[in-house]
Amino acid sequence: MSECCTSLPTVASTCKKHRCPVNGKMYTRVSEKTLLHQIKEPWTWTHKKQAYYFCDDPTCDVVYFGQDDTVIDKMGIKTKIGIDTGLQDSLICYCFSISYKEAIAKPELKQFVIDKTNAERQGRLKAEAVSPR
Ligand SMILES: [Zn+2]
Repeated sequence: MSECCTSLPTVASTCKKHRCPVNGKMYTRVSEKTLLHQIKEPWTWTHKKQAYYFCDDPTCDVVYFGQDDTVIDKMGIKTKIGIDTGLQDSLICYCFSISYKEAIAKPELKQFVIDKTNAERQGRLKAEAVSPR
């Protein structure tokens, strides 16, 4: 039963579940519409005639995956999936979509945000200073 999706894409309509190529668990199918609304740049997405599935494991980088095991990871998604799964996955910076987990893994990201935020704040302060009100 679990192997039903490993064969030809033509059986897509009959496969409700497929194994995530990264964590190996079975996940349910999502509609193409859902996928299009979630991915960052749907116009760059190469759509194939196949079924797509949603991996809801917060520790797995995969968010959507196709029947052919192509994946769309968290970086390719607009919304932060699993926002209530804990601190690790929460965004520390919405403007740059950087999560706490990423900030820990890459210290330079944190510095980047601090630099940008400071620059923005200074820019705003300057703007306020020249404002007539
Ligand atoms: Zn997964």
